[in-house]
Amino acid sequence: MCSPQDFGMSAGGVRMVTRSRISGLRARPRGGREEAAPLRKGEASAEEEKSHHPVKRQRKAQSLNVAYEASDGEKGEGTKQLKAPSWEPQDWRQQLANIRTMRSGKDAPVDQLGVEHCYDPSAPPEVRRYQVLLSLMLSSQTKDQVTAGAMQRLRARGLTVDSILQTDDSTLGTLIYPVGFWRSKVKYIKQTSAILKQRYGGDIPASVAELLTLPGVGPKMAHLAMAVAWGTVSGIAVDTHVHRISNRLKWTKKVTKSPEETRIALEEWLPRDLWSEINGLLVGFGQQTCLPVHPRCQACLNQALCPAAQGL
Ligand code: SF4
Repeated sequence: MCSPQDFGMSAGGVRMVTRSRISGLRARPRGGREEAAPLRKGEASAEEEKSHHPVKRQRKAQSLNVAYEASDGEKGEGTKQLKAPSWEPQDWRQQLANIRTMRSGKDAPVDQLGVEHCYDPSAPPEVRRYQVLLSLMLSSQTKDQVTAGAMQRLRARGLTVDSILQTDDSTLGTLIYPVGFWRSKVKYIKQTSAILKQRYGGDIPASVAELLTLPGVGPKMAHLAMAVAWGTVSGIAVDTHVHRISNRLKWTKKVTKSPEETRIALEEWLPRDLWSEINGLLVGFGQQTCLPVHPRCQACLNQALCPAAQGL
């Protein structure tokens, strides 16, 4: 289940330039641009070879640039400093380990019915990516079971950009009902599908910035679409569960008032190699244990470490 804001998911090695990837539905290079491969140990840079004046190896530690998913729409977000955060929550490693233990059964609704399970795996890659985006749009303010049911009905008719554009609003409403805000979603899905057909050849855009221009697509959806559809970690996908639990565990330096505020606060300290894991982990934890109302603190391995446990 997602929040209303959804409308608007280690280093430690010696390589200095990393690129985060998780398995996705990518079938072609994005933008068709060649990217410079990171230098390997012992290789000279083009500038060094050209000038015949090798750059002196610096003994002093330098800040490391981590190249990550920067596409046309994300220029300026393309590098982040890989350095120790100035602040991190007390006990977060143990709290995270406890949540992993509690989630080891992988038996929460999100594990069976989340976005990774809603698209047709036999469809062409661009259709799968469209289905991923559509299931994310449907999932806002909607239980996973209801989203999965709506996706099943849509897929039974052949779910593509064209099939949606050929479906009248009333039929589309009947197919997706009872997802939350289904009337608005009919409108957003139609508008977004028309844009995808006109501007992206029926595929979905491959940057957060472009995804956010689509009607009914918010930050959480955009980051999850990047992860699931394109296999790219672009940010932490924060929904209402991640937002609530982060505040209960005091994983944000200050109390945050929206999922987007929480995303920014978490990305300031949480190691990047954990970003893709956090959404699924905390959503399932929020569905089964750290419930919105009456969380099951007695059954929670974090009870002794949780700042919120006493007051709930
Ligand atoms: S102790 Fe309670 S509030 Fe704290 S994380 Fe566990 S279930 Fe949530």
